Amino acid sequence: MTNYKYDIVIIGAGIIGASICYKLSKRSDLKIAMIDKEPKLNKHQTGRNSGVIHSGVYYPKNSLKSKNCISGYEQLLLFLDEHNIPYKLSGKLIAAANEMEYIELDRLYKNAVSLGLNVEYMDESQIKEIDRNIVTKKGFYVKETGITDYGQVLNKLVDITSSGNTDYFFGEKIESIHESRNQLTLKTKTKEIKAKYLMNCAGLNSDRIFELSTGERSSVKILPFKGEYFEVPRENYSSDIAIYPVPNPNFPFLGVHLTRMIDGSLKVGPNAVLSLHREGYNGFEVDIKDAAEILTNSTLYNIAKSYSSTVIKELLRQKSKKYFERNVKKYWSNYASSDIIGYSCGIRAQATENGILLNDFRIESRENQIHVLNAPSPAATSCLAIADTVINELEY
Ligand SMILES: Cc1cc2nc3c(=O)[nH]c(=O)nc-3n(C[C@H](O)[C@H](O)[C@H](O)COP(=O)(O)OP(=O)(O)OC[C@H]3O[C@@H](n4cnc5c(N)ncnc54)[C@H](O)[C@@H]3O)c2cc1C
Repeated sequence: MTNYKYDIVIIGAGIIGASICYKLSKRSDLKIAMIDKEPKLNKHQTGRNSGVIHSGVYYPKNSLKSKNCISGYEQLLLFLDEHNIPYKLSGKLIAAANEMEYIELDRLYKNAVSLGLNVEYMDESQIKEIDRNIVTKKGFYVKETGITDYGQVLNKLVDITSSGNTDYFFGEKIESIHESRNQLTLKTKTKEIKAKYLMNCAGLNSDRIFELSTGERSSVKILPFKGEYFEVPRENYSSDIAIYPVPNPNFPFLGVHLTRMIDGSLKVGPNAVLSLHREGYNGFEVDIKDAAEILTNSTLYNIAKSYSSTVIKELLRQKSKKYFERNVKKYWSNYASSDIIGYSCGIRAQATENGILLNDFRIESRENQIHVLNAPSPAATSCLAIADTVINELEY
């Protein structure tokens, strides 16, 4: 077994771990190790998302999501410019389909104004000017929304930091973590890595790494929600403006939206389907350990108690063309299942605690450990700001 010694070890080379590493790499006095169980980058959330640069419109002022998204947005645009990573600021329309949604739309609009975002209410005729197949009568436009490829952002972050004070260990799954005399020892099958500080950015496994390194039972548990996308012909929609429905305020998901991706392709999605495998990207897959944890998570039963059977059925229905059609046609009539030309999916690491879905980001510190326990959307947009938030917790 080979031995290594570091100041800081970061577990998880997704966009969060890599952003923290990027910021820390400016401190030349620190020696950093980045460990990822995968041999390649972008296998999980960072490589499997909508690519949207979010404005922060949905999140209550002063929440971690709001603060980190607004600061992260600015920082991300500077990073994309500096490193010539393609992006487009095309804006988005939040489209309300009925009276109930108008009420929520007004609430979101007020929130956006209080955050200082550039928003503009649109009536039916203005909405039709975006694309004649948009059928909602009311909505508002958010200027500060864009599209990029977060996989490329991650590649660049790793590229920059690889030539500095960071050693990368890919294909190394953490098997044990022990602490003795203020030093942490992390073991993989072939390596033993010692460090003073640990940062847990393990996404879908962040709750398990927390338990492994603290020896405590985590009150925060990951519930994996698959998000599926259907691709439709790019010429079916005449604009680059993303269209989002008004989200259900009880769920931390934004609803099935229509997005022009950075490569010009057109996608609808993602839905939110419970996955019985934290990394089950190939159809319906079950992992016994994952499934046992998911099915005993009280959040599921609380959702079942609080919502209609339709909501529950939708949480269990994969690749449902009917679900997509019903949801997309509420705001855009040019959608037909027969037009679908592609499928892709990602799995969200959505944290739960005490029977509820956590709405905000969750970062927890122990003496020499920092755990990023809930970093779903808009965490890709917010990555550089989340890195600041995490580093501020570090007493170094
Ligand atoms: C369907 C979907 C759509 C989304 N859309 C958007 C969007 O449009 N805009 C936006 O801002 N955000 C979006 N997000 C959210 C965004 O993608 C995530 O918040 C972000 O990528 C999280 O990054 P991460 O580094 O925490 O996780 P990940 O990218 O999942 O990285 C975690 C890493 O930890 C590693 N790891 C796990 N366990 C271990 C272990 N035991 N040992 C070593 N390594 C380990 C994994 O291999 C992985 O590389 C979306 C997410 C999904 C799933």
